[in-house]
Amino acid sequence: MIGTGPGPIEDMTLRALNAIDACDVILGYSTYINLLGSRVEGKEVVVFGMGEEIARARRAVQEALSGKKAVLVSSGDPGIYGMAGPVLEVIHRENLDVDLEIIPGVTALCACSARLGAPIMNDFAVISLSDLLTPWEVVKRRLEAAAQGDLVVVLYNPGSRGRRTQIEEARRILLKYRSPQTWVGIVRGAGREGEEVLIANLASLPLEKVDMQTTVIIGNSTTFVHQGRMVTPRGYREEESRNAQAR
Ligand code: SAH
Repeated sequence: MIGTGPGPIEDMTLRALNAIDACDVILGYSTYINLLGSRVEGKEVVVFGMGEEIARARRAVQEALSGKKAVLVSSGDPGIYGMAGPVLEVIHRENLDVDLEIIPGVTALCACSARLGAPIMNDFAVISLSDLLTPWEVVKRRLEAAAQGDLVVVLYNPGSRGRRTQIEEARRILLKYRSPQTWVGIVRGAGREGEEVLIANLASLPLEKVDMQTTVIIGNSTTFVHQGRMVTPRGYREEESRNAQAR
């Protein structure tokens, strides 16, 4: 199983590219397989539509058990809201003996923080706003805890065309503990065609910009913006001494 990074082939690791070159069959969503271009020529390709993850994982495992070298493609990193979990669940549930290698990839938060500057230089929390697999009450509790702890908050799956209320509620929760001026970075389609990078304040966050290809990074109380780049200082100490001097 490989992680293909945020989009372009340049963001893939050499290990992942070598695995593709060496495989017999490659499985994944059409979008991610298409990004691989001529690299998949001569390979058996199994394309999935949007659908049940466990079924996809089972299919990949079956290919491997049939003796083929199979590569299951997962965007970003397979271990972060990706396919590594479903594959291991199938192997565990059905007590299978599969020779499995998980090859990591550049996850969206790495690609997006690089576009923004250095917003996650200090402790951070990653929360998915999708309530398909996690009840919304649980997501809210985690948002609350991260907001209280002054963690930088990285939001995956912040919204889609049909799912708009979660990001609004997330902002409401963050505003209970954080200043309306808190810096927020929004990156859409990092490394992909039409990439958009935007920095705004928590209070004036353009929520309509948020979709399925977007990652949102909410700064902590020390995050600042300089020359269009979002920066979270490594530590709080400097900030404290600045405040002490001002007193
Ligand atoms: N396994 C993937 C995450 C899958 S969840 C990874 O490690 O990156 C899907 C979410 O990831 C999207 O809703 C979005 O929040 C984020 N994402 C994935 N690719 C992205 C990209 N190129 N630019 C911005 N966000 C992205």
